[in-house]
Amino acid sequence: MSALLELRGIRAAHERINVLHGVDLAVAAGQVVALLGPNGAGKTTVLRVAAGVHPAASGRLLVGGRDVTGADPRRLARAGVCLIPEGRGVFPNLTVRDNLLMMTFTGRSRAEIEEIAFTRFPILAKRASQQAGTLSGGEQQMLALARGLATDPAVLLLDELSMGLAPLVVGRLYEQVAEIARQGVAVLVVEQFAAAVLGIADHAAVLVRGRVQRQGHPDSGLRAELSALYMGSP
Ligand code: ATP
Repeated sequence: MSALLELRGIRAAHERINVLHGVDLAVAAGQVVALLGPNGAGKTTVLRVAAGVHPAASGRLLVGGRDVTGADPRRLARAGVCLIPEGRGVFPNLTVRDNLLMMTFTGRSRAEIEEIAFTRFPILAKRASQQAGTLSGGEQQMLALARGLATDPAVLLLDELSMGLAPLVVGRLYEQVAEIARQGVAVLVVEQFAAAVLGIADHAAVLVRGRVQRQGHPDSGLRAELSALYMGSP
């Protein structure tokens, strides 16, 4: 299986302090890879490097088999990389419809974007005229995902989708994420609390202090290791 997204030996720093020390990760089309690890391990930095918003100090970034090391976020977006940051990035004072309408910059029509959004998340159609800030946390996350899908991503990078949401809501969101992957998208998910995402992940990597400590199928060994890291109860 060839990878749509590949990080090879990625090192990165914040304010001259090294936070990633040679991270190797690969995500194939149709695959969900979970990147887990304690607070401050460097998970968000991995996503930011993959989206081109944080520079790698060394290592290589490949998208669709092409070396895009050092490419800026626009070029990576054009290559199909979409980052949905922690905190969702929806515009709270705009309606759901206007949040979606803004995505017409992608060249897709308003009707196409609404179809993508409302087919996957019917509740958004009911909320179309509501200000995004008045939606529940789960609905805001759906809107963020719908905005991401409007870009027709090849690679979807999700940061702490579960933040502030009830477990049941998180479970439902991850079912949708699994469905998005089944349609051929390569999905890399960062989570501090592992339980929900391990249910749908094909592969998991445990990042500790900027190093992948273990990766593989999310089997009992990996789950036990996560438990030992006091990261919830996977
Ligand atoms: P969290 O779950 O807390 O977001 P994380 O695993 O995503 O953790 P990162 O956010 O990637 O970790 O942070 C990795 C390290 O880099 C941490 O020690 C953090 O304090 C540091 N760091 C992150 N952003 C910055 C920044 N803008 N300036 C300085 N240091 C930073």
